[in-house]
Amino acid sequence: MPDEAQLPTRTPMRCPICDGALDDAQIRDLGGVTADLVWQLHAGRCSEHGWFQTEVVSRPPREIFAVDRPFGVVRRLIIDGTEVFSFPTVWNDLPPAARRQRVDPLDPRFWQVRERRGTN
Ligand SMILES: [Zn+2]
Repeated sequence: MPDEAQLPTRTPMRCPICDGALDDAQIRDLGGVTADLVWQLHAGRCSEHGWFQTEVVSRPPREIFAVDRPFGVVRRLIIDGTEVFSFPTVWNDLPPAARRQRVDPLDPRFWQVRERRGTN
């Protein structure tokens, strides 16, 4: 029987570069000023691309950041010769009216990163 308190840490976040599953997922609950406010930091490591992190405040995250370590500082990535500091999510690209809807902030559909446009 699964014990709820023993469930492994799960995050909807995936590597924004290769879409691979993240290892060593860590979630830091920052608590909320109200009981129904979800406020969490999610971090996870791609074996190839390093640590990533995002913040959830009642809504799905709008950006995923590359960090030097879990809950660390943002690191700069160079992808195809371009500096990348963050990865906007599908949620970020929704029109404002759609972002006002009440959704599950941990719904992985909204956590997908926007497809990067190549330079070709
Ligand atoms: Zn990766």
